[in-house]
Amino acid sequence: MIQALLSHTVLAVALGERSYDVHIGPGLLDQAGAILAAQVKRKDVVVVTDANVAAIYLPRLEHALEVAGFRSRAIVLPPGEGTKDFAHFERLTGDLLEKGVERGTTLIALGGGVIGDLAGFAAAVTLRGIDYVQIPTTLLAQVDSSVGGKTAIDMPQGKNLVGAFHQPKLVLADIATLATLPRRQVLAGYAEVAKYGLIGDPAFFRWLEEHGTALVDGDEAHRLEAVAVSVKAKADIVARDERETGDRALLNLGHTFAHALEAETGFGEELLHGEAVAAGMILAFSLSARLGLCRADDTERVRRHFAAVGLPGGLKDLPAHSWKADALLAHMRRDKKVRNQRIRFVLARGIGKAFVSDGVDPAVVMAMLADEIAA
Ligand code: ADP
Ligand code: ZN
Repeated sequence: MIQALLSHTVLAVALGERSYDVHIGPGLLDQAGAILAAQVKRKDVVVVTDANVAAIYLPRLEHALEVAGFRSRAIVLPPGEGTKDFAHFERLTGDLLEKGVERGTTLIALGGGVIGDLAGFAAAVTLRGIDYVQIPTTLLAQVDSSVGGKTAIDMPQGKNLVGAFHQPKLVLADIATLATLPRRQVLAGYAEVAKYGLIGDPAFFRWLEEHGTALVDGDEAHRLEAVAVSVKAKADIVARDERETGDRALLNLGHTFAHALEAETGFGEELLHGEAVAAGMILAFSLSARLGLCRADDTERVRRHFAAVGLPGGLKDLPAHSWKADALLAHMRRDKKVRNQRIRFVLARGIGKAFVSDGVDPAVVMAMLADEIAA
């Protein structure tokens, strides 16, 4: 486990000349100008954020930038997943050009995953690519989407279908910003934290069983520790497999199911991504147990932990919805990870022992889903 008791941890994402640091700690927002000064081509930045985050944090970031001698301007977008569409992307890139971005300008994405994905994609293609920095303000973005360089927007045909790999130059995860994040959003991000334990770190999962509730309730030391362990796990996987030709697919634990659940509920407020991932990871364990790969007891342990912190412990804990096994399976067959018509699942031989498989018999998936729906 990482000793993250100090006020500020720095982890590296090792990708050769595209390597960068992830700084994690409380109060980093106020040091952003000083930390950024060492990384940028010119002290010229455009901050992209959403209205909720701007109201709470933009003045502090702008002050920190100004004190460090930066020229900065801001673009404030509406909050919500709806902002990650082509229309907002078109408007954002147009605004960037209107504001006179040059090759040496750095874009700063200040906000959750929506802002990070959209601004990252804008940075990837504007002037054929400019630098960008992530300042994630949701737990989900701090432990997952801000690290690894996946950027994208949603299309009418599906989520994240148009995008690019474009690594940031720096990530600043100010864990003090999580203090204003609604509890439901904290929990949704916590699902991705637990994912790292379930994929490959049983000791971390045990640690979460002990400290997860305190973390969700706001304990800063535990948040720092959990974000650091999560970022380290993600950074290691991304360093091994930047473009998801192998190991990076492990990060999709629970996600094949989650995307089907989200598709059924319209990718909206009814079911947040992290909530769907929590239920999806239970389904992945339930499927693994049914295939004789792990013990039923492992699935129950995950369920118990999720229920203890306030996450769904299965389909029955999701908002009322008449789930249908065949409808869910139909969504999974359309997943962008389908290869040669085989659905790719991340399965587990136990807690912390995940692996990728595309050899699962759909009939077994159907039977498992039917049982979980009936439970
Ligand atoms: P995600 O990171 O899960 O993809 P979003 O980017 O959609 O999610 O952010 C979720 C919601 O939380 C949005 O309404 C956003 O404006 C809001 N938000 C983001 N960060 C904070 C914060 N630190 N404090 C309060 N609200 C925030
Ligand atoms: Zn996810």
